[in-house]
Amino acid sequence: MATKREAIIRDEIRALAAYHVPDSSGMVKLDAMENPYDLPADVRRKIAELVANAQINRYPDAAASALKARLRETLDLPQESELILGNGSDEIIQMLMMATAKPGAKVLSVEPTFVMFRMIASYCRMDYVSVPLQADFSLDAERMLLAIAEHRPALVFIAYPNNPTGNLFDADTIARIVRAAPGLVVVDEAYHAFAGRTFMNRLGEFDNLVVMRTLSKSGLAGLRLGLLAGARDWLAEIDKVRLPYNVGVLTQLVAEEALQHRSLLDEQAAAIRAERTRLSDELRGTRGTTVYPSDANFILFRIAGAPRVFAALKARGVLVKNLHGSHPALDGCLRVTVGTPGENDRFLAALRESLTLN
Ligand SMILES: *Cc1c(COP(=O)(O)O)cnc(C)c1O
Repeated sequence: MATKREAIIRDEIRALAAYHVPDSSGMVKLDAMENPYDLPADVRRKIAELVANAQINRYPDAAASALKARLRETLDLPQESELILGNGSDEIIQMLMMATAKPGAKVLSVEPTFVMFRMIASYCRMDYVSVPLQADFSLDAERMLLAIAEHRPALVFIAYPNNPTGNLFDADTIARIVRAAPGLVVVDEAYHAFAGRTFMNRLGEFDNLVVMRTLSKSGLAGLRLGLLAGARDWLAEIDKVRLPYNVGVLTQLVAEEALQHRSLLDEQAAAIRAERTRLSDELRGTRGTTVYPSDANFILFRIAGAPRVFAALKARGVLVKNLHGSHPALDGCLRVTVGTPGENDRFLAALRESLTLN
């Protein structure tokens, strides 16, 4: 049977390790950049009512017109921009790659960055080129421009802020990259709610720029809704590879309702930003740690004995992300998502205990 599988499954797929989601039941879950806050009871009741009356026997609105209109309002989209929705922004990355994956076509990004850029490039048989970030995790402008000239990538992905490093790259350098790129440049603004900086209002400046957002990091990870904004002509082509009903009835209804409470989501993001400052300060005061500045809802830090600290945190019921071993630039690094004040306190207490035991 193994031989049959080897003959059938593509080599690059057999070589992949499946995306691993650890069991987190009963844990303080600070590993996946989720918003820790619930919606208030009255909003949840409204959602329950919408779901009760939803026509789940029918296919969803394939154009998701009502939701798109709501998104246009809440996101301050430029009038002339088009919008594509995805089942999470992961699906949008996949659409972009499926539409551009000519034989030999390349995707360019940085390293370390969001792992799905490389993974999905592999699913779509695109060549993936990555340019190392500098030691402080800033963009290496010269190497990026050289790589663009050499590889002529169909797609360039820039996470702004970057995951897992948490920082915003220099906006002028990104603009130079967009001007130099022969193909599309995707600015992935998954953490926009915590950064306050955007390329959305610069879409009109460049015809090869597209901006991607997601509701996942702002309190609606369970819904799976991502979006891409950009020039009509480009998006009309990308939209052809979108599966017709990729955003379900329930996601459309619930997202539309949740977005009516934009101010609640904004308040939650503000609370997370305030906690980010407190958590960074506390971590900075912890012996043997280097804390990287964050414009996102997580903090990257380097700590002596990271794998042991990770295990000790886990043994105390706190799940963070262990990045040690994932990339040489991340040796000794852990990434903690900013939780509620109580969750952050539990994390800090568990961290202190783990360190005194060492
Ligand atoms: C989390 C994340 C995404 C994926 O978001 P979904 O919309 O949940 O698929 C995309 N880009 C970056 C940089 C992320 O960190």
